[in-house]
Amino acid sequence: MLPRPPSYFLRTFGCRVNQAESQELRARLAAAGCAPAASLAEAGLCIVNTCSVTKDADREALKFLRRAGRENPAARLVVTGCLARRAPEDILRAAPQAQVALDPGGELGLPEAAAAAPERSRALLKVQDGCDGSCAYCVVPRVRPRLSSLPPAAAEERVRGLAAAGVPEIVLCGIRLGRYRDGAVALTGLLERLLRIPGAFRLRLSSLEVLEADEALAGLIAGSGGRLCPHLHIPLQSGSETVLRRMNRPYTAAVFVRRLEALRRRAPALALFSDIITGFPGETEAESRESLALVRSLGLCGLHVFRFSPRPGTLAAGMPGQVAPVAARERLESWQELDAELRRAHRRRAAGQRRVVAPLRGGFRGLTEDFLEVGLERPLPPGLWPVTLRESSNTAII
Ligand code: SF4
Repeated sequence: MLPRPPSYFLRTFGCRVNQAESQELRARLAAAGCAPAASLAEAGLCIVNTCSVTKDADREALKFLRRAGRENPAARLVVTGCLARRAPEDILRAAPQAQVALDPGGELGLPEAAAAAPERSRALLKVQDGCDGSCAYCVVPRVRPRLSSLPPAAAEERVRGLAAAGVPEIVLCGIRLGRYRDGAVALTGLLERLLRIPGAFRLRLSSLEVLEADEALAGLIAGSGGRLCPHLHIPLQSGSETVLRRMNRPYTAAVFVRRLEALRRRAPALALFSDIITGFPGETEAESRESLALVRSLGLCGLHVFRFSPRPGTLAAGMPGQVAPVAARERLESWQELDAELRRAHRRRAAGQRRVVAPLRGGFRGLTEDFLEVGLERPLPPGLWPVTLRESSNTAII
């Protein structure tokens, strides 16, 4: 247990799962009487939740650790997250005073918190952890190899708590959300149970693998009356069959296309987003073009584009044909242009239509069910608000 509750500074890097874990940690810190510090320099305890998905992610986390040591050498520094799991020695090199803790809440003797106190009008709820996949570029199965799922009753309790606290949007997340399983209950079973909970809230799913996004899920979205957002983020990574094979992804581009078609047949309003890794080892100009052309044909609403970076200990790190930096940068730019184009088209299609927004950023902006962030004519309190999107759909009329 902490002797005297210090004020804390918590810095989070990386994905929604890390953000959900940090949100939970904040609730546990609050339950232990710790208040957030006004700045890093004033904190008695500094917790850093790291990411290690790319070389840049490592670099950013290590840079922050060095800064923490400089700005507040007296603070207790606790480091957790994927980099802490993958390379604790790098952390200690950057911050020799750091304490590497895979379960910082436990390490600090923090009490369990019944429900994470949400700070915004959206809350993240981690219902699944771990991946046993074997994608050639990915370090996650090394750092989070064990699959685990939050039992449905516990998930229901958390959702009830968040709904009672007035949180309008709850984002369910996991490393492999589609592998959610507790006994006979799979993801759609969990969703059916959560959707039965009364209250003015909606659910959104974070990233899902294509083979785990089935028609039953699309049916649930279509039949939920907007309570399960018509928005899925399904990573493709490459639209080139040969690159996908080298990546050891468990599907072909043709299967991906067919799945998306099937999902859209059941839920025509689905806004689909995807992830792309550009510059994978051996990727030729022709493969890169093939990939762009396929993705262009998918009618997606936006992309998260990552430039390949070799992760120590992964298969891809030792693969021949690492793409030259100039070519990698050019390809990245082409993808970024395509992403901007897709997002513009998504906005254009929505212009003039009705949507329901959950307010963000102090109520000055809102997030629609199909994942458009819009400015609001006047600030709104947390809740779900029907709006009409203006012509440009950059703003909404309430
Ligand atoms: S599915 Fe592949 S990319 Fe996703 S976490 Fe697992 S190994 Fe990594």
